[in-house]
Amino acid sequence: MHSTLSQSNGLQPLVLDGSQGEGGGQILRTGLALSMVTGRPLRIERIRAGRAKPGLMRQHLACVQAAVQVSGGQAEGAELGSQSLQFTPGAVQAGDYTFRIAGAGSCLLVLQTVLPALMLADGASRVQLAGGTHNPMAPPFDFLQRAYAPLLARLGVGLELALERRGFYPAGGGLLHAQITPATKALAPFDLLERGAPLAAWGEALAPGLARSVAARELEELGRRLGWTQEAGQLRTPGVRQHEGPGNAVMATLEYAQVTEVFCQFGERGLSAETVARKLAEEVRAYERSTAATGPHLADQWMLPLALAVWRTGQEARYTASELTDHTRTNAAVISAGLPVRVTTEPRDDGAILVRV
Ligand code: ATP
Repeated sequence: MHSTLSQSNGLQPLVLDGSQGEGGGQILRTGLALSMVTGRPLRIERIRAGRAKPGLMRQHLACVQAAVQVSGGQAEGAELGSQSLQFTPGAVQAGDYTFRIAGAGSCLLVLQTVLPALMLADGASRVQLAGGTHNPMAPPFDFLQRAYAPLLARLGVGLELALERRGFYPAGGGLLHAQITPATKALAPFDLLERGAPLAAWGEALAPGLARSVAARELEELGRRLGWTQEAGQLRTPGVRQHEGPGNAVMATLEYAQVTEVFCQFGERGLSAETVARKLAEEVRAYERSTAATGPHLADQWMLPLALAVWRTGQEARYTASELTDHTRTNAAVISAGLPVRVTTEPRDDGAILVRV
């Protein structure tokens, strides 16, 4: 795969069309991660070409800058609105990093950009991130901590997360710490085909800086739709810290023997508390109806760490997803282009999607 020489560092560049498939920021983040772990330079054209505001937005620039820092790399075209980027990674360095993302740009998406490189580095890293921790269209902190990190642990990678302050859209202002410990032995890819026995399920409403009735109404509606009760400890209002908010998120956590899923909906102006809870209940129901191990978001995000483990060990692995989203399809194409692994998806008889790496 690395046979053609390029002028930059001797490896064939990874060239991506940023408008392919889902066409969003995920292509950029996965591309940066693949470039850092393989050492191949990355060229992306038509970044977010089909979006209302095309090109790199602040959130995406923060990912590029983080990639430059952890890999001692160089980036051309790293400007707001830029639709093409040339990134040349250097050697990834484990260490202590701080990334500040303006406004409520997602800390978790920046973390996911550098995590693949740092999980394969030759030492542990501590990453402090400031910005959004609970924002729409990005994994919330709790998803990374409860759903994603335990799967990484099974691969052999440590990801310990501590939340110091939540940051909601649009103000941001959250703070979190991540400790990444690369595997001490070979990575251990594994199949994740079933959820296993149900262990616990509960909902939480966060509404710092808003009327108390917002969280109460959301939990009441969630309980009514899912049969969850206060008495059983299934409806919770976690404490909020000073300076958090204003913001509103309702989350559902479903713990099974082999996997934990976290679903999240965000309140916004003009959306009633009941509507936010109803949308969350629908997400939970859709997952419960399926037999798959991963829900729609975990399915697209689990693919890259698993593919890295498959690449490093040569052992194949599979998992099931409740649906085949554009994000999942697109990530499969980008990962297959950037690593010498092939990611395929196919429907199973029971409706679940089987992802093979
Ligand atoms: P763009 O503005 O270009 O669409 P973006 O950079 O904001 O892009 P996406 O490319 O849409 O982001 O990627 C968002 C990522 O966040 C995906 O991996 C998606 O699965 C994940 N995500 C979104 N919502 C959730 C959620 N509620 N829980 C977990 N993950 C989520």
